[in-house]
Amino acid sequence: MSSKSFHVEHRYLELPDSFYTRVQPTPLRGARMVCFNHELAEQMGFHTQKEDDWTQVGAGAELLEGMDPVAMKYTGHQFGAYNPELGDGRGLLLWETIAPDGRRWDWHLKGAGMTPYSRFGDGRAVLRSTIREYLCSEAMNGLGIPTTRALFMVSAKDPIRRESIETAAALVRVAQSHIRFGHFEFAAHHEGPETVKTLLEHVISLHFPHLIGLPDDERHVRWFEEVVERTARLIADWQAVGFCHGVMNSDNMSIIGDTFDYGPYAFLDDFDAGYICNHTDQGGRYAYNRQPHIGFTNCQYLANALMPIVEEDSVRRGLRRYEITYNARFLQNMRDKLGLLQEEESDLSLIMDTFSMLHEHHVDYTAFFRALSNLYAHGHAPVRDLFVDRSVADEWLERYEERLQKETRAHDEREYAMRGVNPKYILRNYLAQQVIQEAQNGDYQPMKALLKVLQRPFDEQPEHEQYAALPPDWGKHLNISCSS
Ligand code: AMP
Ligand code: MG
Repeated sequence: MSSKSFHVEHRYLELPDSFYTRVQPTPLRGARMVCFNHELAEQMGFHTQKEDDWTQVGAGAELLEGMDPVAMKYTGHQFGAYNPELGDGRGLLLWETIAPDGRRWDWHLKGAGMTPYSRFGDGRAVLRSTIREYLCSEAMNGLGIPTTRALFMVSAKDPIRRESIETAAALVRVAQSHIRFGHFEFAAHHEGPETVKTLLEHVISLHFPHLIGLPDDERHVRWFEEVVERTARLIADWQAVGFCHGVMNSDNMSIIGDTFDYGPYAFLDDFDAGYICNHTDQGGRYAYNRQPHIGFTNCQYLANALMPIVEEDSVRRGLRRYEITYNARFLQNMRDKLGLLQEEESDLSLIMDTFSMLHEHHVDYTAFFRALSNLYAHGHAPVRDLFVDRSVADEWLERYEERLQKETRAHDEREYAMRGVNPKYILRNYLAQQVIQEAQNGDYQPMKALLKVLQRPFDEQPEHEQYAALPPDWGKHLNISCSS
């Protein structure tokens, strides 16, 4: 692979030295390509005929000319406690490239070996968690939710010690930016106001160019408001698809509002408002129904980091954007899911009652909204069949249909729109678990097949109906830990 095909601009290196340490990857042995995202490569402006050309880059054994790998320094609040020791402990930012459409892409090799920030870790990523990140980031993208992406992943022969011995893997994760809230916390707590300002201007010039040219104060305030708004919208979108992140520490919050750092995440199967997907999160700090509030808490951590350079009042005003933006986006998302175009005052109570009903009767969240998107096309049965007590469904459907009478859109038009927001296919934990098992036995085809389905989550894909099935009993509430 020639680096000539790339327009390289490694702007992260323009930040003060304290933001990174140059580290060479520690090569993995016996690497093989698992999966390569050709469609994404095209978007990024390059084309690969031979996937194997990239295997050694993924293994950390080869660098293209212009790659200058660094481990990024950041800190952050983990489960509410400040940790000054963080940073890329197993990932390296290789370079930034500019696509023909002008978009910037950070290339980050996750699983590249130890760095000065590895603490007690081995600098590695295992096959299981790397597949989970690959699948989910591409599924998120398919759902239209901002996210980091997976460019390619390799597996290797090196044994990795977790609860048992596992297979090593590495992922090239790409994003417009890998800067986290935690970068700002690092600058504020350890470097001082000038460094916060330098970081802020860096982020604005690369990712918020529309703010360039505004007077200092206004530029900073508008930027903070926008970060808060993007974060609020992101989490409202997660809630709407039933996504639980699992580790919403401030070092896992992207400054540009991407879904970032896929660990013990889960999509809800049966609706459970208090669902905790991370079994190390015993207090349920990051439970599904706490995510909106935690998003706000993280914005507060960011706000604290900005205090030295932005007026306190302005920061407070910026923070107020969170609740307003979250509520508006969440309401809009739920109206779209229910197919309600006309705005009625009673809609909010219908929405809240719907959640209560789904919770109380353990109804599959995704299947419910998808069945509702075909109510006139397929009738009541597919909705009713999701309930143990059919009369609960009947009662709710009666109320819903009464509400629909206030709508002016034709049924088929409404349901077409609903099918565009209520996915048929989500990455259920049991599906991930199945393809991981096959991959661990050396067969990556099932993973690739699942990936293809998830990239078009709103399409019917009748030939892939089995991926929309409800989880088998063994697959419900699988415990996923942080040990990735
Ligand atoms: P996470 O919980 O994945 O967000 O990781 C929190 C911090 O621990 C980050 O700074 C990671 O880089 C670091 N980390 C996670 N796993 C490892 C590992 N296996 N080796 C070294 N550092 C790690
Ligand atoms: Mg992390």
